Amino acid sequence: MEAVFFITPGLVNAHFHPSQQLNRALGIGLGHDKQMDLLHATDQIKDPKDSTLLSYIAVLEGLKAGTTCFYSAGSNIDTQFEVYKTLGVRVACALIPKDIASDDKHHSIRAKTWQTNERLEKAEFLHNSFHTELVRVHFGAVNVRYASDELILGMIDLAHKYNVHFQMHAAESMEYVQNVRN
Ligand SMILES: [Zn+2]
Repeated sequence: MEAVFFITPGLVNAHFHPSQQLNRALGIGLGHDKQMDLLHATDQIKDPKDSTLLSYIAVLEGLKAGTTCFYSAGSNIDTQFEVYKTLGVRVACALIPKDIASDDKHHSIRAKTWQTNERLEKAEFLHNSFHTELVRVHFGAVNVRYASDELILGMIDLAHKYNVHFQMHAAESMEYVQNVRN
């Protein structure tokens, strides 16, 4: 009997923040820094169930658009594992925390700052709890501006230990680029 199936090309979303996806229309026309402030302000009023629900919507939208493989980076990837497992989606995830506070910003528009060792332990726990062939759990840090050397190097050590990759934003705005140059 003739096999009945199609082979179609798939798209790879190489950098995805599913629980923030529905916020992407915020602050249209504002500069990137102000958009990030709005994003972090809305993150502060989401509870974990909101993040899971928003992730379902974003992943379904991605699948509908033809995405067959996702790379999810974020500070709350633990709210997304249920989504990937339920939908059977191929994905790699990296917890990308910050451990240096952005003191120049009001607390209402800041991303959360974490304790370095606590995040390293959390990232290793997430890897040991959720890493599979289909849902890969990598290691990461937010960026060079708001992550200490200890956090970045600790996450890279964990990536080597478990033979997975390390993920970090190179720069999220011109301000960050300037900070690296300085
Ligand atoms: Zn990002």
